[in-house]
Parts: sequence; C-alpha cells; structure tokens
Amino acid sequence: MNKGLIFVISGPAGSGKGTVVNLIRNRNPRVGLSVSATTRDPRPGEKDGVSYFFMTKEKFASLLEAGEILEHTEYCSNFYGTLRSEVVRITEEGRDVILEIEVDGAMQVKRLIGDGVVTIMLAAPGAAELERRLRGRGTESEESIVKRLTRAKEELATAPRYDYFVTNETDRAEECADLVMKIMAAEHSRSERSAEYIGEYISELDGIIK
Ligand code: 5GP
Repeated sequence: MNKGLIFVISGPAGSGKGTVVNLIRNRNPRVGLSVSATTRDPRPGEKDGVSYFFMTKEKFASLLEAGEILEHTEYCSNFYGTLRSEVVRITEEGRDVILEIEVDGAMQVKRLIGDGVVTIMLAAPGAAELERRLRGRGTESEESIVKRLTRAKEELATAPRYDYFVTNETDRAEECADLVMKIMAAEHSRSERSAEYIGEYISELDGIIK
C-alpha cells in the first residue's frame, strides 16, 4: 500500500528550494533525494556525490547514450540530468524521492512515469525579492544573474502545468517545508493510490459477512 512516490520540486533560482528540501529531509530522513548529474562547475562548499555528481560533458553524453539518464536538460549552457540509478535505489526501498529539477525535466518525468509523480513549484514572494536573493549570493557574474532572472520568468510561466504552486516567504522556510510535507502526506492518501488495499479490505469483509 505504501509505495514510494516521486515528488518533483522545481523553483526558479532563488526560490529557496534547497533550504526547503533540506528541512523536509531533516524532519523525515526516510525521504530520499536524487543526486543529479551535472556538467557545471561546483560552487564553493558543494561536494561531489552530495550536491551533484559533477562530470565532464563527455561523461554526461556517455551516460545518456547508455540510457542511465532518466531525463535531462540544458540550463544556462550546462547539462543536468536525473540518474536512473538514484530513483530506482530509493523507490525500490518503498521510500519517497525528491527530484530537485527544472521545468523541462519535471514534464519529462511526468510524461514518462505518470501517476506516481507529483509536481510542486516553489517560488520567492515576488520579483524584487527574487532579484535580492540572487544578488545576495555574491557568487555569480552580472551576466549569469540576468540569465537566471530570464530563466526564472520562463519557469514561472509554466507554473500552471504543475500540480501545486507554493510561495516560500522570506524567513518562513519552516512553514514552507510544513506545507510541502502536508502535500506529500495528502498525496499518499489519494483514494486511487489505495485501490488495491480497498479491494482487499472489501474481500475480507465479504469473508466475514458470508
Ligand atoms: P543550479 O546550477 O542552481 O544548481 O541548478 C540549476 C537548475 O537546474 C535548477 O533549476 C535545478 O533545479 C535544475 N536541475 C538540477 N538537477 C537537475 C536535473 O537532474 N535535471 C533537470 N532537468 N534539472 C536539474
């Protein structure tokens, strides 16, 4: 009855999705996070195998060729992709898995897997706050910030294709994580996911009633 579900969490850069996802995983360590492959360089503090599997474009292409990448996209001149092995490893243990990926990937996963996928878009509360958050990082060039703001606009335009849209208010990441966890719990309680269990329940009652 309790099969692991795939939760795709997207959010324009600066939506705070990394913080929210960490809070969710701290509170419920059974929730797994799929570590993606990327060809971009690590940012300060990022570790290989934890933040991403960092790799060359050649290595990424060979994994893609071998069918090891479930979905992928090009984002700001780099490739990002979900490794099949990550999703299989976690869901086979009956655990939920979070995919922190952008919109193209989110829609590819939804198309490929269907019902077991729930898509959630997180967003900063407004354009000015989003810009402030991106500049506050201080790790990126002006060109890169403009690229990310442009991409954020495009991603927000796709929000209606997601199952849920959640705003991450400033200094309220805990509340945002609470709401996402409630969505996750509610999704497990959708009646269609319990169809098999309900059938068995009714057969057992038949056995009792005779
Ligand atoms: P960043 O460079 O800021 O870590 O990530 C840039 C964007 O790529 C984010 O929107 C992030 O969610 C997305 N991303 C990270 N991993 C994947 C992935 O495996 N597949 C796809 N489609 N997008 C990803």
